[in-house]
Amino acid sequence: MGAEFSGEQTRWLEGFASGAAALRSLAKAAPGAVALPGAVPSGPDAGQLAAQDRTLKGGGKLSDQEKWKRSEHPHDAYARLKADAGAGRYPKPDDNFRWRYHGLFYVAPAQPNFMARLRIAGGILKHWQLAALATLTERCGAGHCDITTRANLQVREISAVHGPAFLEGAAEIGLIPRGAGSDNVRNITGSAGAGIDPQELLDTRAHASAMHHHILNSRALSGLPRKFNIAFDGAGSVATLEETNDIGFQAVEVLSGPLAGIRYRLALGGISGHQDLARDTGVIVAPEDAVNVADAVLRVFIDSGDRTNRAKARLKYVLDAWGFERFLAAVEEKLGRKLDRIDAALVAPRAAPDRLAHIGVHAQRQPGLSRVGVAVRAGRLTAAQMRLLAAIAREAGDGDLRLTVWQNLLVSGVPDSKLDDVKANLAAAGLDWRVSNIRAGLVACTGSRGCKFANADTKGDSLAIADQLEARLTLDQPLNIHLTGCPNSCAQHYIGDIGLIGVKVTVNDAGDQVAGYDIVAGGGYGAQAKIGAPVFSGVKSQDAPAHVESLLRAFTAHRLSPQESFQAFTARHDGAALRALASGAMA
Ligand code: SF4
Repeated sequence: MGAEFSGEQTRWLEGFASGAAALRSLAKAAPGAVALPGAVPSGPDAGQLAAQDRTLKGGGKLSDQEKWKRSEHPHDAYARLKADAGAGRYPKPDDNFRWRYHGLFYVAPAQPNFMARLRIAGGILKHWQLAALATLTERCGAGHCDITTRANLQVREISAVHGPAFLEGAAEIGLIPRGAGSDNVRNITGSAGAGIDPQELLDTRAHASAMHHHILNSRALSGLPRKFNIAFDGAGSVATLEETNDIGFQAVEVLSGPLAGIRYRLALGGISGHQDLARDTGVIVAPEDAVNVADAVLRVFIDSGDRTNRAKARLKYVLDAWGFERFLAAVEEKLGRKLDRIDAALVAPRAAPDRLAHIGVHAQRQPGLSRVGVAVRAGRLTAAQMRLLAAIAREAGDGDLRLTVWQNLLVSGVPDSKLDDVKANLAAAGLDWRVSNIRAGLVACTGSRGCKFANADTKGDSLAIADQLEARLTLDQPLNIHLTGCPNSCAQHYIGDIGLIGVKVTVNDAGDQVAGYDIVAGGGYGAQAKIGAPVFSGVKSQDAPAHVESLLRAFTAHRLSPQESFQAFTARHDGAALRALASGAMA
């Protein structure tokens, strides 16, 4: 430096460098120091910084994740991500949190490499995107992908050096992973049958897409205290499970008055893992206004969400503390106008979803065309299957592939004349459009094969349960069995007819533990939305199939009539009574 600058210039530069270093060390030592003392935060991160400031001023201690966001905004860390991963380095916890803002998750110790999660608005992608993704999974990952419960895709076993290439390759085919993890609005879900379902009230595609792009292009909305889920449900036959989202937009018909017509009803605060479902706010939203309303809800949440305790940092807890009216008043203040409220009596009842609508051949609203719901074993597709599905969609369908929250997909726009070809090609790829009532409603999170939080091998155990049940009994009605590996509840076990949550089971006085489950029953969604109640606790994984079978045998032996649903049956009994009936059924 001294050789190229005058003495005065050198002293000035040294002073500047030491000042910058002091600011950086201040930022690391004392969260809050990035904003100069007394300065009012400005720019797109102002909301997040101001919320953190208020927490500190009130004597609160920021969570580690808030400190990490404060010392370096994850969106500003991409150059480091590229340099580190490109050099073969996996991140420490702070950067592992930051890299997730870019869609890259270091998942050790479950797997010693990266998992990447995409964003697919409404779960609908084009045939060429799936074909290109197949190649990308082979180049950078293990050559397969998993369909998630947010109608999204994840790719595993990506080595560090391939991480940036995967992220950029996915973005180049329009599957932008940004904001897929950490404290962001996650993949926007929409009705899988949008625009083709004869039952739907509203085509959700434009709204899910608009929300998706709004999130991607609003840095301020990445200043959330925690993750956030938004779903648009068009009231079609394939359920979207919007009641499990922080914001659920539910298409309804308003029968009369100035708001008459097809609109969205606003439901807020769903988080099934915390045993709460989104509740109707009484607010009705014009479809073209949904993004504005969601934006205002998000900004209130940025201001008011908990920055100290991650377990309480979800929208539900703001709603619980404030009540709906105070929260909606804050949303109205952000919007600068009143929301439309409506008497629930003016809203027509919504048609119930069909619990098997995501599987098999169903006629579309377009005459002569059908959608084919493809069963996907444990949600996993090999690269070869991805290419074949892409070819089927291109040659025999309308080019779209529609992922569902049931971890499977639909091929849409298939002319009647091509249905047999599609079935034959699916069979050749080891896929099927027919499954039993048991397997159609089987949902499992990643589990211990790929997630460090898992207490059990949910995917493997789900298949073991299905194999045993299919071999030993026949169910004459659809049933949902959800397996989730930990309290994060990615597979929403509380809304399954039968839900299993992974736990460690102590098996001897020495304290040795094995994988196992607590089991709940009687959950539901849509018009039957309900949180399941405990039945069994501490069941070893190897015993889970027998316990589920015993519950189903108790149901078939003791239901009031063949029409009684499993949920109605469980509602007539408490946990002790169900255990007694189950034990008798297996005796
Ligand atoms: Fe992992 Fe838990 Fe989510 Fe399952 S529920 S994928 S174990 S975080």
